[in-house]
Amino acid sequence: MLVVASPVEVRELSRCARKSGRTIGVIPTMGALHDGHVSLVRYARADCDFVIATIFVNPTQFGPNEDFSRYPRTLEADLELCRSAGADLVFTPDVTQMYGPTAQTSVRVSKLSLPFEGAHRPGHFDGVSTVVAKLFLITEPDRAYFGQKDYQQQLIIRQMVIDLDFGLQIVTCPIVREPDGLAMSSRNRYLEPDDRRIASEIFQTLLLAESLALTSNLTASQISVRMQERLRSIEGMELSYAEVVDEATLEPLTDRPLEAVALIAVRVGTTRLIDNMRIRFSNQSP
Ligand code: AMP
Repeated sequence: MLVVASPVEVRELSRCARKSGRTIGVIPTMGALHDGHVSLVRYARADCDFVIATIFVNPTQFGPNEDFSRYPRTLEADLELCRSAGADLVFTPDVTQMYGPTAQTSVRVSKLSLPFEGAHRPGHFDGVSTVVAKLFLITEPDRAYFGQKDYQQQLIIRQMVIDLDFGLQIVTCPIVREPDGLAMSSRNRYLEPDDRRIASEIFQTLLLAESLALTSNLTASQISVRMQERLRSIEGMELSYAEVVDEATLEPLTDRPLEAVALIAVRVGTTRLIDNMRIRFSNQSP
């Protein structure tokens, strides 16, 4: 497995792989890898001939009061995980290699970036779409692998790929969870033991939404209210949002659609956690 920090060198290696007829898969990450990230590398390994994982803690997607400086950095362990999951190349640029001193260009996916995470983290998705566009231009992949865990993010990247004619396929992979249902996240390591117990209520609330959609005749907005009530009742948890929305547009839903996505963001201790679940409604009328 190659470990390369230079964007120019990575582009050359990718072009070389393509010339020899190989398909290229990329998995963008910020490191502090866990089994969720590893699953993305494995999906890419199964689909593609040349697998590039990228590890870059991107400063432009963190707000001024967010955790950029304390974000976990575990490069040696990350490389070991990439190696064992079958990556061919890990791209590990530093900030100066990604952003020159005169950098002034950014990519904004206007509408999808506004609600939910976009509303709570101003500028976050501009940072994400810009760095992912750069990673696509550097690695020139056929396919790029993202987790459903960051539901809004993968929708934004899909839109960007269409709008800017990147001509590559976005593959969204299932959420990998801890045994108690908590979605794996690099930020889970910030959780104190009490917080960790409280955090598992997020998944229970998603299961509640799923079962209400299937077994009651509540509308999407009524289910949103039930989710909010449940999360608000948990001591030590601060609700940011809990909403059943359209799975493609993230717009609010008032009726009972066939399918939707339930989105949750909360703060537990000092840690902001997000999760989601796609849900199906049974065909009962409200
Ligand atoms: P991050 O390093 O947090 O920026 O995440 C890199 C990629 O891993 C993103 O596409 C995430 O959606 C994905 N990811 C993070 N956590 C999980 C998880 N628990 N299951 C599956 N994919 C995940």
